[in-house]
Amino acid sequence: MIIDDQYYDIIIVGTGAGGGTLARKLAPTGKKILILERGEFLAHESSELEDVEVFKKEMYHAPEQWYDSNGEPFYPQTSYSVGGNTKIYSGALLRFRERDFEQVEHQNGISPAWMLKYADFEPYYTEAEQLYRAHGRMGDDPSDPPRSADYPLPPVEHEENIATICDLLSKQGLHPTYLPIGLGEQGRTDSEDTGISPTLANYSNVTLKTGAKVVQLHTNPSGLAVKAVQVEMGDRSYLFLADLIVLSCGAINSAALLLRSANEKHPEGLANQSGQVGRNLMKHLMTVIAQRSPNANNGLFQRSVYFNDFYWGDPTFPYPMGHIQNAGGILQDVIFSEAPPLLSVLAKVMPGFGLRQLATRTLGWWLQTEDLPNADNRVRFENGKLYLDYTANNLEAHDRLLYRWQEALKEVDRSAGQSVFAQNIHPHGGMPLQVVAHQCGTCRFGEDSATSVLDVNCRTHELDNLYVVDSSFFPSNPAVSPALTVMANALRVGDHLIQRLG
Ligand SMILES: Cc1cc2nc3c(=O)[nH]c(=O)nc-3n(C[C@H](O)[C@H](O)[C@H](O)COP(=O)(O)OP(=O)(O)OC[C@H]3O[C@@H](n4cnc5c(N)ncnc54)[C@H](O)[C@@H]3O)c2cc1C
Repeated sequence: MIIDDQYYDIIIVGTGAGGGTLARKLAPTGKKILILERGEFLAHESSELEDVEVFKKEMYHAPEQWYDSNGEPFYPQTSYSVGGNTKIYSGALLRFRERDFEQVEHQNGISPAWMLKYADFEPYYTEAEQLYRAHGRMGDDPSDPPRSADYPLPPVEHEENIATICDLLSKQGLHPTYLPIGLGEQGRTDSEDTGISPTLANYSNVTLKTGAKVVQLHTNPSGLAVKAVQVEMGDRSYLFLADLIVLSCGAINSAALLLRSANEKHPEGLANQSGQVGRNLMKHLMTVIAQRSPNANNGLFQRSVYFNDFYWGDPTFPYPMGHIQNAGGILQDVIFSEAPPLLSVLAKVMPGFGLRQLATRTLGWWLQTEDLPNADNRVRFENGKLYLDYTANNLEAHDRLLYRWQEALKEVDRSAGQSVFAQNIHPHGGMPLQVVAHQCGTCRFGEDSATSVLDVNCRTHELDNLYVVDSSFFPSNPAVSPALTVMANALRVGDHLIQRLG
């Protein structure tokens, strides 16, 4: 084992929405910062998903196997690269609603209250939207929370077919709302081009090591602080030392790292006296629906619209149902390619041109419903293997959302003059376990150290110098997409760390 001869003020592990944003926030302090990232820089063209290749290649899966609760292996859909999952995300940057931070009764149970409220996050949402260049428009969505500032940039206009459909859905009394999207000159903004790269270009106090997989955290003899971070780089093992350690490996990998770092003082894993590390894994109930495009489209356009009309339920179902977004051009939608009964299956047998033709006659819709925290849904690390035990809950709410949306689409198809055949064809597919895009909740924050892993500053209750700033900290999983909240929280924790570093 090689002990690095440098001593750092802070080590950040992972460069995704949490780690990349935090690095950018802390860099101007001048403190000596080391960033450890297991992946490498992705070539620009491989993160701009623009072809039928998306359906045919497995390049957006991590080159490692995880296991389901029956021990069946699978390749998780997750990106190990500088920028993490923001390198393959769709760039939708939504704020949680005010009520999302409160206790909410769902048809299948309770979504717990957060210890901080919307007002605590609001200034950081604004900061994150500015940093990531969110394009959007206030005032169209009745479920929108109050804002201290407008979006920094105007919304992305709808593709022609989407604009037609939005008009028809408005006539049904629904509220099409411009989807806030982070966009820069090169396409979607992400935590590599917005977080890591500008940080490295401007601050010599920050060092990035890529291909650096953190495999264990070592504590001091009292077990009250992390003393060293063990890293595999190539075929060598290194130890890096710092005052403060911040994990941002993604909710599943951060929990796994804490569990695999068990030692004499922490026999069940670091920061895990409560037994909560890895538990309450949430990942949204997600379904994609295909609709025949009124006219051919080019298959390549940004997502641009969302609907929250059923977010808190409807007159026939007084419980939250969820959130709906359009999929953007089908040819560039990486999760769409996962939906088992849809294009992904066809892709295995169809030649590229046939698939392209099919995709350009198709529009897609994403439905997301909150899944509720359940201690039995968890990450386990056993005998060197990472297991996900996950059984979806809140299914009726999701089914109702699906039914409601299919009815709305049928009406649109009728009004648009589609054939009776097309009006009744809306194939849909739910997401398999391997789609962990919206993973969260495995180290939730809370006041009580018996029922949570992190405190209000996302510091572990048990180790004074250990923090977690990825989506692990979520106590619940509101149905809108998570990345902006991860970014905003990293900026919030950044303010705390700046104070602590002095
Ligand atoms: C296909 C797809 C589309 C999505 N679209 C959207 C969207 O439109 N809007 C939205 O809000 N959200 C979206 N998401 C979700 C969003 O990307 C995540 O919520 C967000 O990236 C989570 O940030 P994070 O910091 O928790 O983790 P990540 O972004 O996953 O970052 C984790 C980082 O840690 C690194 N790492 C992991 N383990 C180790 C280790 N042991 N040592 C060193 N480094 C390690 C990884 O390589 C990675 O860089 C999407 C996700 C996917 C996969």
